[in-house]
Amino acid sequence: MMKRLVERVNIWAGGDAVVNNGAILLDGGTIEAVLTHEELAECEIPAAVERIDGGGRLAIPGLVNAHTHLYSSLARGMSLPGFAPTSFTQILEQLWWRLDKALDAESVRTSAVVGAMEAARCGVTSLIDHHASPYAVPGSLEGLRKAVCDDVGLRGVFCYEVSDRDGEEIALAGIEENRSFLSDQSLTARSSTDHPADDRLSAGLFGLHASFTLSDATLERVASSLPEGVGIHIHVAEGPEDEMQCVAEHGLRIVERLDRFGMLRPTSILAHCLHLDEAEKDLLSARNVIVAHNPRSNMNNAVGAFDLDGSLGRNLLVGLGTDGLGANMLAELFTAALFQKASRNDPLAAPFPSLHRLLFENNPRIVERTLGVKVGRISPGYPADIAILDYIPPTPLSGDTILGHILFGIAVHSLRVTDLFVAGRAVLRDGRFCDFDEDEVYAHAREQAARLWRGAV
Ligand SMILES: [Zn+2]
Repeated sequence: MMKRLVERVNIWAGGDAVVNNGAILLDGGTIEAVLTHEELAECEIPAAVERIDGGGRLAIPGLVNAHTHLYSSLARGMSLPGFAPTSFTQILEQLWWRLDKALDAESVRTSAVVGAMEAARCGVTSLIDHHASPYAVPGSLEGLRKAVCDDVGLRGVFCYEVSDRDGEEIALAGIEENRSFLSDQSLTARSSTDHPADDRLSAGLFGLHASFTLSDATLERVASSLPEGVGIHIHVAEGPEDEMQCVAEHGLRIVERLDRFGMLRPTSILAHCLHLDEAEKDLLSARNVIVAHNPRSNMNNAVGAFDLDGSLGRNLLVGLGTDGLGANMLAELFTAALFQKASRNDPLAAPFPSLHRLLFENNPRIVERTLGVKVGRISPGYPADIAILDYIPPTPLSGDTILGHILFGIAVHSLRVTDLFVAGRAVLRDGRFCDFDEDEVYAHAREQAARLWRGAV
């Protein structure tokens, strides 16, 4: 891959490192140098280097979505007859489990392309997906990988959510789908040892739906097929029903139950974790697992508030996801702050250091653990995962003020990503996708969505 120089950009390199009017030199998939204007003036840039004018915009490290559901991308605007849920379980039964049963290979692929395009437009370069399509299980994860990593060009971590809710045959198919995708992924990783790890775009986790739709027999089967070092990706205590059912049926709480099956690993992602008791939080911390917080989804489903301080205080690796509700991680972060303040009646809740840790430190660490690629900074040696935002600061921009610009400027006004690079590949340039015609994709998506909605009623 060629060398590229992105010049005339304000650069937030991560942490409190800001370079106003600087330049970034990319060597293929890697960041070679970050230069000030003065340093650039003293450099001789060979003619073969492609020069990109940043126009005074803002370059930030590519963002990470730590928990999403690409299969929900075509649900927008769908109305379902008889939809009148009175609990979280009924939201699942009346909406999401009707939608997922109607998915086939083509609508899964289209959902994934549309979801990944929207992620790219929000500056997301890595996403961690949790997938369900019970009547189109085999090959669904490879379909997602192709759509996200090959077609759109993002990094992705994929899994199939095993559940007993649709019967034993589909539960077994889910186990086989995870097993087979994980085995393909490890073969790919082994065969690419002569490439730097930065090139790695995909990995797998072992997906599980949630404790309340999983029998001991199914968890036993999963535990026996869980490869060494591979974590699970599961919803935990999203609604209060999940814990209540676990205690009533199994005589113990969810985190303890998962631990009995040896599933609490440093690469395991537990989404939500809203209704845990203190002992469960201590156990998560002792096992060093990953927790994905999804504030907008939690508010939308009215399922409860996350204990942010209790989790960060225990040094848990807590990251931020959208749970399929959009892809805008900066708006998600802003909402995380508002939700903590409102739910705790404390305007000082969720201070800047906690927010910074969630999205800009922990989410990159989650990618490092699950995908094996160290992301999250614009610094020499890091992979070239960079988003360029059309944002001109009306107040001074520095390491001390960057989070104020992110939250009170970009997150609340408009996020417009003009250029996106993933492992050095140009995904977006000047606001357009480089490798395909997005109008064609969207026209096809509208047809697929109409077909999907007819199947879901
Ligand atoms: Zn979820």
